[in-house]
Formats: sequence, C-alpha cells, structure tokens
Amino acid sequence: MKKNFTPEDELLFLALGGSGEIGMNVNLYGCQGKWLMVDLGMSFGAAEYPGTELMFADPEFIEGRLKDLIGIVLTHAHEDHIGAIPYFAADFGMPLYATPFTADLILRKLEEARLVGKVKLHIIEEDHGSIQLGPFNITYIPLAHSIAEGNALVIDTPYGRIFHTGDWKLDDDPQVGIPATEAELTAIGDEGVLALVCDSTNVFNPEASGSEGAVYAGLLEEVGKHTGKRVLVTTFASNVARLQTLGAVAERTGRRLCVAGRSLDRIIDVAQDNGYLEDLPETVDFATAMALPRGKVLIIATGGQGEPRAALSRIAEENHQLSLTSGDVVLFSSRQIPGNELAIGRIANILAGRGITLVTDRQSEIHVSGHPGRPELKALYGWLRPEILLPVHGEVRHLHEQTRFGLECGIPQAVAQKNGDIVRLAPGKPGKIAEVRTGRLVLDGDIIVPADGDAIAMRRRLARDGLLVVVLDGAGGVKIEGIGLPLDEDYDEFVEEAEADVRKAIGKLRGGSAAKRDEVTEAARLAARRAAQRWSGKKPQTRVIMAGG
Ligand SMILES: [Zn+2]
Ligand SMILES: [Zn+2]
Repeated sequence: MKKNFTPEDELLFLALGGSGEIGMNVNLYGCQGKWLMVDLGMSFGAAEYPGTELMFADPEFIEGRLKDLIGIVLTHAHEDHIGAIPYFAADFGMPLYATPFTADLILRKLEEARLVGKVKLHIIEEDHGSIQLGPFNITYIPLAHSIAEGNALVIDTPYGRIFHTGDWKLDDDPQVGIPATEAELTAIGDEGVLALVCDSTNVFNPEASGSEGAVYAGLLEEVGKHTGKRVLVTTFASNVARLQTLGAVAERTGRRLCVAGRSLDRIIDVAQDNGYLEDLPETVDFATAMALPRGKVLIIATGGQGEPRAALSRIAEENHQLSLTSGDVVLFSSRQIPGNELAIGRIANILAGRGITLVTDRQSEIHVSGHPGRPELKALYGWLRPEILLPVHGEVRHLHEQTRFGLECGIPQAVAQKNGDIVRLAPGKPGKIAEVRTGRLVLDGDIIVPADGDAIAMRRRLARDGLLVVVLDGAGGVKIEGIGLPLDEDYDEFVEEAEADVRKAIGKLRGGSAAKRDEVTEAARLAARRAAQRWSGKKPQTRVIMAGG
C-alpha cells in the first residue's frame, strides 16, 4: 500500500474512534480512491481529562484526505454517533446523510451552532432508503435500538457486501418503528455478505436484551404499586419508545404526565414532527403537577446518569419547581453508563436520605438494553452468514470477545481491530495492513485541544500537586505564593523560609541575582520546591516569574 493510504483496488476499513473505547464512533470505509465515513460521534468528558466537557476522535487522518472523502452517513441519532457533527462537519465540507428523525436532531444541533447552510444535510427515506456515493451503494435497514430510527447499513461495493449493524438489538415488540424481519435479514444473507461490522457493547451478556414490550408491562406493574404516591421516572431522553410507554402507563394508571428536562422537550418535539409519539397524552406544567393529588401525577425527568444540572439532580436537591417528599418514588428506567456510577450514587443517596423510595432495573423489569446479547448476535450471524466478522463499538475486551464468539459460532474469519488499524477486507485474506495515528480531542471551554496534550497533562498535575508561584523582582526581592496547597498553621512560616531559601540559592550563584536568567530561575525553582517538600511532604508544581519580562 502506498504511503498516502489511498485505497486502490481493495476494500478497507478504518476506525478513528469507538474501537477500543466506548463512544465517539467514527468509521471509514475505503475503496477505489474514496473514503466513506459512517457516523461522527462524541463522548462526554472523562475524569482523566479534568475540567473538559466532551471528547472526540481526532480526525487528523481524514482531514489530510478530504478530497477523497465522499460523504458522511449517519446510522442513528445517539450522541456517540452524531455528537461531533457541529464541531467538525463544517470544516470537512462534506454532505451528511441521515433518516428523517436523525436528520431533524442533527439540524437542531446545526441551528444551535449557527451552521445551518454551511453543512449539507440530505434526508434519506427511513425504510430501505438508498444512496450511491462513489463506489459505495448504501441502503438503510431499520433495526430495533433504544432510539427511534436505529439503522443498519447494507453497503454494496465492487468487492462485496458489507453489513454495518450500527447499534441494534432484536425486539419483536419494539413499541416504536418496524425493524427488519428475520426473513428480510435472511434474504440479505442469501445474496452474500462479505463482512459483518457489528456492535460489541453487550457481547458479555449471555441473555437476549429483552423487549420494550416487556418494559411496558414492568413499568405498568411498578407504577401501579405506588397508589397515592408521586412517581418520577428517569430515562434517556432519546428513548422515544420508552416515552411512548410512559405515556401509556400514565393513562392506564390514571396519572397526568409531566415532563422535566430540556432534552426531553426537544426529543418529544422532534419525535412528534416526524410522526412519533402522536398519542402521547397532553402533558401538564410543573405548577399543575404540584397541585394534583400525589397519586395523580407521573413525572418523566432527565438526569438518570447523575448529571448535576439535570432535572432529577435539581429535584433531589430541592432546587426545582417539582418536588418529592418522603414516601414518593423514583424509578430508574435506565442503565448506569460506566463511569457515571459515583454521580448516580450521589443523587440516589440524597433521595434515599429524604425517605424517597428508589427502584432500579435490578428490582423490577423497568429497563432493557438497546444492544444485542449473545443469543441475538448468534441469530444475526446465522441469518446473514458473513465471510468475515469485524467487531466494532466497544472496548478492547468487547471486540476481542466478539471475535472469539463469532468464530465459535462458525463465521469463517474474524478480525479484531482497534482505532487506527487499516484493515483490508478484500481482496485476499482479511487483516490489518497498516496503522495510522489516532487520538482523542477534548472540548476545554470553547477550545478543542488534544486530550493527551501538554495543557491537559498540566491540568492533571496541578489538580494533584497544587502550584507554587515564585516572583523575583530582579533586585534581590522574592515573593512566594502557594495555590491549592494545604493551608495549615505552618503555612506562613513555610512561605518565609522558602523565600529565604530562594534568596540564599540565588546569592550562591556566580554573579548572584545578576547571573544568567535561566540559572537564576532554575535555582529559585529548586529551592522553593525543596522548601515545600520539607514542609508538606509533597512537591508542588513550581513556576518562577521574573519581573522585567
Ligand atoms: Zn452507540
Ligand atoms: Zn445508539
């Protein structure tokens, strides 16, 4: 392969994000000189990057090859698949393709970022809509997932057919949407599938994910138990089927529906614009909900992941027009996203401390996952009968486990890959042929920086060590200030000692304070740091500032 990584007479796959980590899915297919992007997702900030809000896959590889990129195809509207669009799509200058509900949510994002008109957004017919982009013929295949319009893509190429699952599950009672049937998927398999590129999220789950229909029954039973109590259900705003279910549960249990959270308002709006949630009962405002008898209201609220500014958190902290009191009930109709356990625990503890009853999916069947467990994976393998399995959407352990599982289920070949591996799917034996640089970017305030760059590395050190600032006035004067250091009763004494040590260290230099500038600053830095270690047992980050530039 040529150094410039232009795909020639071959079919390539390359993940820039989402393979070897959760979230920020960005996948590329290469063929006959062209790259096709599937999804452009993001993740929410991680504790390892303090003070940052969002994470993105570094698009450097494709930014250097935009002339060969022919479009960005979006499978569905979850943030880990579309979240990075407002940050990168305008710079890429590439058209986007999505089904109506997904496109509408993308459009709202573009509006918020003032990018309407700067990004071309094409709406693809929801059921089996198709487009030809260069050597790729792409057909949308609806599959069940925890959002409206989850889609797989059948990508036909001169080298064979790819079935890119997107996020999916099997659900014979999905409440919203009509997923492709076993017969349709078998027919796709009958025509021959070269490669199945498949969601790995729940490969460790030995059970099938379960149906939204069962959640309807579970929620109906659970809400029905709490007569005379105010019931709040928290769920992912984008789970349109769950909202539909909660509307029906409210009606069946004689409760009025009240919705708390901006993202819920937005999703309901977009869903109704696209023909979903048409029979959602009319909602009541906060004041009306509070005036109703306790047993006559069902609240749906955002914040089930412990987000501090979301409705549930504010209700827990009694900082919201809606309130709960002892004996009321909160149902978590959601799963804990890994990494959010502490934040969720914090809110659960506040609620429990106030006497509010908490119910999770471990006590009652009030949630199912949107990703396939092993029985579902096995069923799809059997219908599609691919020659190659290529697991995506998961951490390293998930991708490797699905590779093993696929081979065990009889798929002839499986390729474990990670972000940056260029995998050749055809011609010849599939496998990694090259590796390119990938990485993470983070949104720090309004600025996008490398996640593992100097700024974030220093942020982490400052959080751990604190900062010691040494100011030299150029005439022998020294001022020291600690920032984020322990302020015990010896602190003032430490500062005096450290200032004296710095003066002494500079005095010892040949030429004293008139010695070379970098010698003076280095002597001052070491002396101040040593003094700090003597006092506190820790070495703070130390910066020396010299007056006069
Ligand atoms: Zn996803
Ligand atoms: Zn998803």
